[in-house]
Amino acid sequence: MRVNTIGSNQLIFLGTAGGRFTVFNQLRKSGGIWFNINGKIFAVDPGPGALIESIKHKLSPSKLSGIFLSHRHLDHCADINAVIESMTEGGHKKRGVVLAPYDATEIDPVILKYNRKNFTLINTEEFSTYEIDGIKIKTKVKHRHTVEVYGAIFENRFAFIPDTSYFDELPQVYQSDVVIANVVFCHERRGFKHLSSDDVYKFLEVFKPRKFIITHFGLSFLKQKPWEVAKEISKKTGCDVTAAYDGMVIDI
Ligand SMILES: [Zn+2]
Repeated sequence: MRVNTIGSNQLIFLGTAGGRFTVFNQLRKSGGIWFNINGKIFAVDPGPGALIESIKHKLSPSKLSGIFLSHRHLDHCADINAVIESMTEGGHKKRGVVLAPYDATEIDPVILKYNRKNFTLINTEEFSTYEIDGIKIKTKVKHRHTVEVYGAIFENRFAFIPDTSYFDELPQVYQSDVVIANVVFCHERRGFKHLSSDDVYKFLEVFKPRKFIITHFGLSFLKQKPWEVAKEISKKTGCDVTAAYDGMVIDI
């Protein structure tokens, strides 16, 4: 079987699972997103299986410039220690930067203490710019979720909107050529702080990127065939909307 990898200015989905049932039964993979901009490689939200999936896709964690963690839920961070240990070559090399919210490193810490000596840890805050190896990462407004969450725009190439319920600032702050959003539900479910495909319409009414990609699917959404829902949204809005699949590569 052919496996995709990425070259310069490409991005790969090492997982598209969201929600407990999809992730913890591995109905889809959950290794997060890895991207390469100008030869610099970053991992975003290394969930369960991120290390295995990165190696499978011929990506070397020892070449990572950094890791961006949106928040401390397990489907986003379960493999962060393994990826850090690989990035630092078993702790033998001091290298790399980890960007993570304060509550993911200090309140309910997801990075083991012994593992913290060999990289630079930066706690992300809203509306801040971080430059790592020449790549600008701009966080945006604090999300509405159950823990501290930040998304970002990466080097003005793509925006990543992790877990949140919908609020009006989203389409104002995440304006980028490519927008990737964690859309767990097909339709809004009261009491769950997640986006649904109904929210994608609200977003596109305000701002239409060149490409809008939905990912992080819960079980109920998978049953509705996200690729068909994406096609329907494209037809109704005139915006190119795609449902991500495991191993999907895009140019950024
Ligand atoms: Zn979450």
